[in-house]
Amino acid sequence: MKVEFYGHVRQYHNIQQEIDANIREVLLSGQYVMGPMLKRFEAELAAYHGTRYALGVGNGTDAIWLALMALNIGPGDEVITHPNTFFATAEAIWIAGATAVFVDCCPKTKCICPEKIAAAITPRTKAIIPVHLYGQCADMIAIKKIADQHKLHVIEDNAQAIGASGKGFKIAELSDAATTSFIIQKNLGTFGDSGALVTNNPAIDARVRQLRNHGSNQRNVHSYGFNSRLDDLHAGVLSAKLKHIDAWNDLRRKWAARYTSGLAGCRTFDLPVELPGYRHVFHLYVIETKNPDSRDALVKFLVDQGVDAKTHYSIAIHKQAGYPWGKEARIVGSLANAEANAACCVSLPMFPELTEAEVDYVIAKVKEWDQANASQASDKPGPARSGATCPSCS
Ligand SMILES: *Cc1c(COP(=O)(O)O)cnc(C)c1O
Repeated sequence: MKVEFYGHVRQYHNIQQEIDANIREVLLSGQYVMGPMLKRFEAELAAYHGTRYALGVGNGTDAIWLALMALNIGPGDEVITHPNTFFATAEAIWIAGATAVFVDCCPKTKCICPEKIAAAITPRTKAIIPVHLYGQCADMIAIKKIADQHKLHVIEDNAQAIGASGKGFKIAELSDAATTSFIIQKNLGTFGDSGALVTNNPAIDARVRQLRNHGSNQRNVHSYGFNSRLDDLHAGVLSAKLKHIDAWNDLRRKWAARYTSGLAGCRTFDLPVELPGYRHVFHLYVIETKNPDSRDALVKFLVDQGVDAKTHYSIAIHKQAGYPWGKEARIVGSLANAEANAACCVSLPMFPELTEAEVDYVIAKVKEWDQANASQASDKPGPARSGATCPSCS
């Protein structure tokens, strides 16, 4: 059996009529950039999040740096995040001209560890960017508390967790803005690039509205700006798909639960943790091998058996070649958890359109590998992970 990592074409087949109807509507409207379909999708996205504003932009990376710029964060300012995320989180800080400051992640959730943030704050610190990694919210209540104490902004990088929520909070509720990406592989994805930002702050809305469109709110009148817009064709695809996002996330949760119960008792790796009261939307289902030396062997075994396993992300940002490329960056404290995550992560196939037979095949193959390797696992200690009792993780 072959099990793919993504189900883009299956998803298209399932709702082809709805997508095609919206694409046709855009094509016949004659308005393809900043047109009525974008307005419709932005209204739907704001309603979905319960925010006052939603703004479509070119991609998820732009959404982050546009939010930073709208908050006047740039050269000389520091922004705290963690290094075990997709590269774009830090890249956006650098594009804005600010300094990226890396602290460690929680040992279990792999989201930024609130316990590590305070030590990284200096008079130059302006913002924190938590990432809702793999589809689970970071501990926004703890992060917001630190931000309020030190008068810092918070931008949620929500590229991986649309539709998620935390215990007692919603996305975009405890921050200045939440950004997202609609590249095809995200939980809500179009057939190309685009992104968005949601906020309740009218000043951020007004500023990004101008910045994304050549600094212009009015024909022929410009201030400094860029071109970062969400095309109406993509807005049409996303409008059709948004109606299904909760059901799709429920399916992701169902497959995650099946993996978790099927793989319970395995000894060579740890399973992902869903915190009580959280809605994890499993953008990725990531297990961590206890022994870093066996990670690549597990991925190879699965690929050889027809299971398209991947790694997210096997090189932490501060370990990329040439880091920090002449940019300003700072590391505060040990990054042991983030480094262990990079060394040990394995992502199993995860998308709503998986079948029970496919999930069970993946489980069988992972168990087969676990049984063959269990003896080595038990006598080799894993990489050091710190803060195993972090309150945000338990
Ligand atoms: C995908 C992703 C981004 C960037 O989105 P693009 O649309 O590819 O620019 C940013 N942050 C995280 C955590 C992501 O997963």
